[in-house]
This record gives sequence, structure tokens and C-alpha cells, in this order.
Amino acid sequence: MSGRPEVLFPLFAELTSLKGVGAKTATSFAGLGVEAPRDLLMTLPNGVIDRRRVASVRDVVPPAVATVEVEILSHTPSRKKGRPHVVTVRDAGTTFQIIHFHAADDWLRRLLPVGQQRIVSGKVDQYDNVFRMVHPDHVVAPRDEADIPTIEPVYPLTQGVTQKGIARALGPVVQSLPDLSEWIDPALLRREGWPTWREALSQAHRPENTGDCLPDAPARRRIAYDEVFAHQVTLALARSRRREAPGRPTLGDGTLRARAIAGLPYTLTGAQTRAVEEIAADMSAPTRMNRLLQGDVGAGKTLVAFLAMLIAVEAGGQAALMAPTEILARQHAERLGPDADRLGIRLDVLTGRDGAANRREKLAALADGRTSILIGTHAVFQDAVEFADLRLAVIDEQHRFGVAERMRLGAKGDRADVLVMTATPIPRSLALTVYGDMDVSVLDEKPPGRQPIRTAIIPTTRLREVVAHLREAIAKGQQAYWVCPLVQESETVDLTAATDRYTHLREALGDCIRLLHGQMPADERDTAMADFESGRARILVATTVIEVGVDVPDAVIMVIERAEQFGLAQLHQLRGRVGRGTAASSCLLLYQPPMSETGRRRLEILRETEDGFRIAEEDLAIRGAGDLIGTAQSGVPRFQVADVERQPGLLALAQRDARNLIASDPDLTSDRGQAVRVLLWLMRQDRAIGYLRVG
Ligand code: ADP
Ligand code: MG
Repeated sequence: MSGRPEVLFPLFAELTSLKGVGAKTATSFAGLGVEAPRDLLMTLPNGVIDRRRVASVRDVVPPAVATVEVEILSHTPSRKKGRPHVVTVRDAGTTFQIIHFHAADDWLRRLLPVGQQRIVSGKVDQYDNVFRMVHPDHVVAPRDEADIPTIEPVYPLTQGVTQKGIARALGPVVQSLPDLSEWIDPALLRREGWPTWREALSQAHRPENTGDCLPDAPARRRIAYDEVFAHQVTLALARSRRREAPGRPTLGDGTLRARAIAGLPYTLTGAQTRAVEEIAADMSAPTRMNRLLQGDVGAGKTLVAFLAMLIAVEAGGQAALMAPTEILARQHAERLGPDADRLGIRLDVLTGRDGAANRREKLAALADGRTSILIGTHAVFQDAVEFADLRLAVIDEQHRFGVAERMRLGAKGDRADVLVMTATPIPRSLALTVYGDMDVSVLDEKPPGRQPIRTAIIPTTRLREVVAHLREAIAKGQQAYWVCPLVQESETVDLTAATDRYTHLREALGDCIRLLHGQMPADERDTAMADFESGRARILVATTVIEVGVDVPDAVIMVIERAEQFGLAQLHQLRGRVGRGTAASSCLLLYQPPMSETGRRRLEILRETEDGFRIAEEDLAIRGAGDLIGTAQSGVPRFQVADVERQPGLLALAQRDARNLIASDPDLTSDRGQAVRVLLWLMRQDRAIGYLRVG
């Protein structure tokens, strides 16, 4: 497929080629994300206005839209600036008023001539027991009644684009839709009773009632399906291309793993054992692994990653672990280093801060294969880093990385297997849209013996009590985190800066406090973290740099300031830093009153549950997918019609269908495959088109 199919040309023409759309309207449309007729088509009405004629405004329950025939009785012009011009009219049942503000007197007298009949349509309300229609939407002579649409679709509006404007621009587009070959599996189409693409769009733009605008109307479902299916085809293509890419079987003999497990002070959870088995099976296959390890915060993903890396080492190869922050990379290295030593294998940590000589030595050891496991940040993946035989690349806390980085890492090794780990800030219903190109292992079981975390929601006006509470905790030998939203006051006016808070707490509690933020020199950061880990420091005041993965089992209190400004998933991650040992832990969510009702509800969810999946789902329900914090970076696509929260079944269906299709027709050459190609163009699936082009 070299270029966009010709049948689609009109749908991708300039918007200004449409009737009534000038440069100014086009700019307004662009604000809606509408750049071509195709985008306009995918902007569906979200309701209807029923303009069927009734005898009298008395027949509707105000406020409501009514269309009635009236006789114009009299005009009472505006007497003062800002006062309305009132036209008194009579329909079959009552006398009422038509009200205009700021309208020219003579224009109104022409529009509504005294003694004549007119059909008027507009919203009716009741004011002092008198029915009124303020600024009617339509006023026509009885013989022109047909000019008023009986059922008028209502489009999501933006400034500068009117309902009439959208309807006018769309009319000819819907009228002349091309006849495209069916891309949906015929059996599915029959079972669901869906219309063809063309019928679906014309039905969706000419709804007859509100029900036609709901997500479960057949036409809407079909269009939503087209959308998610196109996306799933892209993911299925990506998945299949990767699986086609030759991999290498990596088979370990299990010796290192057995010794590592024997040395643990605990046993693996069932979920950990299962995940390691799934990973081992993938790695032993000749295809390339592209697996996601999904597990709530504290589920024990690091251990699974370590065991997976040992498989690579057992097979005589190397493994890399990429962490999102330097602190986390170092901590992983500190945790896993002793285990590696015991097993007699070399584990190095490489970050952007290694001195030149140090770095050179590490790179040499890596290149000649003396180093078995490399842990690092992005720096690991710079070009100078060469592995003797990289067999497994692990990415920790994948939601911090973009899809592109995930791909780049895979390219580093010679057909290396890839394992990405995430604490899933997104709910299951969205997982398919993001990870549809991967195979997934889930750690759905936490290590035993964890104490529940007591979560409290506290206004900042009670800061003193919180500080007193910390003082007691320190006296008992406990440790605490104190999270502040931003480093400097510059960006958002009244966010409490970490440095101010640090100074304040230091005055109140003494010098057992350390400060940690992203703009500190690296060695100071290390010292602060090391002091906290060793217990020399009791309180760590930090920005969200500690969000991901840091593990200090003796820390039992987590204070989060301005909690109402964080995403729920992020709060959940932060809270997951405590409750790691066996002591009782608590999380204090400080907010700045007054807090909105929604804000309170969000924080209450955290108080109610520690289940990350539930939290993500509730967050989604409150905010809607579009607003989910971190959505953009976690790769959830924005669908125009599909509503992945309310149509999860559609998503699963689309994934199955897409995977089956790509399995039987990987290059989309069959008849249906050809039709799907058109769909991919229609849905702007550039990535898929790219795969097909090279393939
Ligand atoms: P996450 O999944 O959030 O990355 P970690 O891997 O950091 O979680 O593990 C959290 C804590 O649980 C660590 O202190 C780790 O040593 C401990 N842990 C991991 N697996 C087990 C297990 N099977 N039993 C008990 N503790 C475990
Ligand atoms: Mg982790």
C-alpha cells in the first residue's frame, strides 16, 4: 500500500472545501481536533432536540424546546439599554412572550410582523407564571415549516462553531459517503446486527431520538468498534512483527535461580512463581519475548525481574535492568548486589554520573562479558554501551517511559527478550488499549504478613498535630516520608516548597531530617538517601522523586502535602512506600481547605482501599479516561467515538478479532485484509501503515 486509497480522498480534503466553511470556521474546527471532513464525520452528536410541532407551549414542561405556530399580537420595544424587547404572541393554547435582548427594533418587527402567523421554535421557560421563549432558534413563515429540522442533532460545541454550522458542513459529507468494502468479520456483523459503515454514519448523524445518541445504539457501537478495531489491528501488527523478528531460545538450567531462592528469607508467592514460569517459557521459545509484568506496588516485581535475569545468565548471556530514576537504579543495585555476589556473578550499576575511568572499566567488563547484570538509567542505553550478549532487557515502572523508549531498548540487544514492569496506574479496562501488543503476567497476590496502611485525610490547618505525631514517632524509633509537590514556589503560587517545609520541620524536630529533590547535586541526593536508608535520618522530606520503587522497610509514616493535587494512582504509588515491613503503617493525606466534593471523594477512595486496580478504576470513573492523570504518557489513545470505560466488551472483542486476522493474514492481502487497510487509513493508524509498507 503506497498511499492513501483514492476512495478516501474527499474525506481527507481541506475543511475549507466544504460548503460554508471558511478559513475562520476551519480554525475553530481545528480547536475541536477537526482537521479534515473525516474528523467531522467522527464527531457525533451527543443528543437531539425534538422540534416536532406541538399545539401550544403549554404542551411541554419548561424548560424545554417547543415548536409552535403563533399569531403575533404586539411588540413592546426595549425601553432602556439592557432591557428586553418583548413580543406578545398567541398559540393554540395560550398567550406567551418572545424575548430578545440587544436586537434592532425594526429587524424584530420584520421577523415577527404583528397580525401574521409564524412557526417559532426555541427553549421555553416560565417566568412569573408567564411562558417565555428567549431568542428562538428558528422563526419561519408557515409555508417554510420544512426548514426547521424536526429532530435536530446536537453536536459537542466549541467556541466559534455553531450547531447550524456543523450541520451545514456535515450535510454534504454524510450525503456522499463512499461505499467501502466491509472490514468487520461478517459473522460478527451479523451477530451484532450492525449496519454497514456508511449506514452507521448516516444514522449516527441523523438520530431520531436520544437513544440513537447513546453508546449502545447499533450505529454508534459499530463506529466505536471500527475505531478500537483499527487500533487493535495496529497493536496486533506490532506484536506479530516483533514475534516474527527472529529471537533466540534462552534456556537456563535453573541452578542460579534455585540458589537465589534458597537464600531468600521468605518463599515466593504463588503469583511470583507463576510469573517466573511464564517468563521462562517465553525466553526459551525461539521468538522474541515482549511481556508485561503487571503488579501492584509492593507485589514483589523486583524479585521476579532478578530471577528472570538469572535465566539469561544461566544461559551464558547478560541482562539489563532499566530504572526510571537514578535513585531507584542505585537502590536496585544495592538490593540485588549482595545476592549476585553470593551467586558469584558480577552486577554493575551504570548511571550518567560515573566518572570517566570508572565508566570505561564498567563498559569494558560489559563488552567482554565479565559483567552479567547491568542496572542503570537511560544512560545504559546510550550508544557507547555494548553488551557481549544481551539476552534480556527489563524495564522497571514502565509507565514512566514512553512506548518509543521501550522499543529502543529492545533494539539494543541482539534479538533480546524484553520484560517491562509496571505498577499499573491504569485500570484493566484500559490495559488492552495500551498493552494490546504485549503478553501479560499479573502479580495479583501480595507477599504475606503485610499490615494494612491506615490512611487519614487531614486539613493543613492541623499541621501542628501532624508534626507532633511525627515527633512521637521519631521518639519510638520510627521513620517517615514527607512528600511536597514542587521544588520551587515559582510555578504554582501556593504550593509549599520542599525546601521551606524542610526548614520548618528541621526547626520543629531537629536535625534527623534530610531533603531530597531532583534539582539537588547528585552526591547530596545519594547522601540523603543513604542516611535515610541506614536509619541515621528519621524523616525524608522529598518531592515526588521517591514516587517509584524506593524500598525502606522501616519507614512507616507517609505524609503527603497538597494530596488533592496529585493523581490517585500517584498517591497510591507514594503510599506504597510504607507498609513494606511488618510494623503498622499510616499515610496522612494533607489537603488545603476548602476541598471540592470530587476532591474529597477521590481521597476517600484511597482511605477505603489499597487495591491499586480498584483505585485506578474509581479514579477513571470520577475523571473520565480523557482526564486520567498520566494517560498521555501511559499511551492510552484518545478515541473519538469509542468509550473504553463503558464499552470494555468491545475492546476485548476487537483485540481477539484483530489478533485472529493478523494470524491468518499477516500482510493484509486477503479481501478482508484489503478492506482493513482502508480502515487503517481512515482511522489514521500511521504506525500500522508503516508496518505494512516495509512488510
Ligand atoms: P514492587 O512490586 O512494588 O516493585 P518490590 O519488588 O520492591 O515491590 O517488593 C516489595 C518488598 O517486598 C521488598 O521489600 C521485597 O523484598 C519484599 N518481597 C518480595 N517478594 C516477597 C515475598 N515473596 N515474600 C515476602 N516479601 C517479599
Ligand atoms: Mg518496584
